[in-house]
Amino acid sequence: MTFQTNLARVRCLLGYPNRACRFAPHPAKLSAALSGCAFVTPKAGRANASGRGSKLYGMIVEKCFKSTDGTRRYLLRLHDDELIESVLIPRQDRVTLCISSQAGCGLGCTFCLTGQLGFIRDLSADEIISQVLLMLNEEPASRFSVVFMGMGEPLQNYDNVLDAIRFIHDDHGLKTPMSRITLSTAGLVPGIERLAAEQLFPNLSISLTGITNPIRDVLMPINRKYPIEALIDTVRNLPPPRQKRVMFECVMIKGLTDSIEDASRLSEMLHGMRVKVNLIPLNPAAEIPYERTDDDTILRFQEVLVRNGTATFIRKNRGNDVSSACGQLKQKVFAGNIS
Ligand code: SAH
Ligand code: SF4
Repeated sequence: MTFQTNLARVRCLLGYPNRACRFAPHPAKLSAALSGCAFVTPKAGRANASGRGSKLYGMIVEKCFKSTDGTRRYLLRLHDDELIESVLIPRQDRVTLCISSQAGCGLGCTFCLTGQLGFIRDLSADEIISQVLLMLNEEPASRFSVVFMGMGEPLQNYDNVLDAIRFIHDDHGLKTPMSRITLSTAGLVPGIERLAAEQLFPNLSISLTGITNPIRDVLMPINRKYPIEALIDTVRNLPPPRQKRVMFECVMIKGLTDSIEDASRLSEMLHGMRVKVNLIPLNPAAEIPYERTDDDTILRFQEVLVRNGTATFIRKNRGNDVSSACGQLKQKVFAGNIS
């Protein structure tokens, strides 16, 4: 499905007469237009969370879990019965919509449940955009951010992801500033270089996690192809305005990624760069053979980086009670742990 086709589809839904129309839909108006929309009958016996059973853009809400902190996690069934996950995270002044780019993921990170599913298939641009529209339909919001931090590796589905980003950003699409779109990658160097040459550049989140090559080789096997030095050099070579929009994410895993030596090593590697660092406590699960770092150790790790001039944040786990770690929901539903 091409970008143009998606655009035409949304226009059609909004009742715009033709593509020449210059008025972009306001997200709230878009949500209202989509509200209750049921243009395809759901498969028998599958109703969505609100009981409407509507099917938007070729996918239905198989399940929706609401966390006590307001986070909503959607398990979505695609036309070929594959399942993906999307998460809606309410914040004070806006919502963050976390979307998938693939069903499953072939990169096999050993701390990630999506990695354990393996690669199933790429999502079309249409399916990527539909997740945003579906969540806006459930929770109309005039201010929202979109993050590619659900299932899959976006840079392995480059063309469809870029089509989706163009639509989410476009004045005739969802009119979202690029500063509110974040692409997260496990560090595919050629993909980052390709993205760097694009006219549009989203915020870039790089999942680093392991700070030495031997550890990262185990945690994120893609490191054997694109080791840490190559990854950091690629970011170092970005023009300053783009480098400023890079965030390195480190999942804090007890005894593996959380030592003071790791913090110093990371500081040295990032010396002179204008990037930020996000520390994320591991979201544990029975299927993940690692433990979460305790809060004091995370604070000490943060202090080292901050002292050396790197803006470093600790990200709260949101929606833990609804299995918010990437891929957890699908596995738990299959295992019968959640009904
Ligand atoms: N494939 C891309 C996009 C998915 S983002 C990437 O890896 O960046 C999914 C994010 O969830 C990644 O930053 C990953 O490090 C993080 N993640 C995966 N499993 C996790 C877990 N068990 N606990 C905390 N974060 C996890
Ligand atoms: Fe794939 Fe990202 Fe999970 Fe690694 S962390 S398995 S790249 S989704």
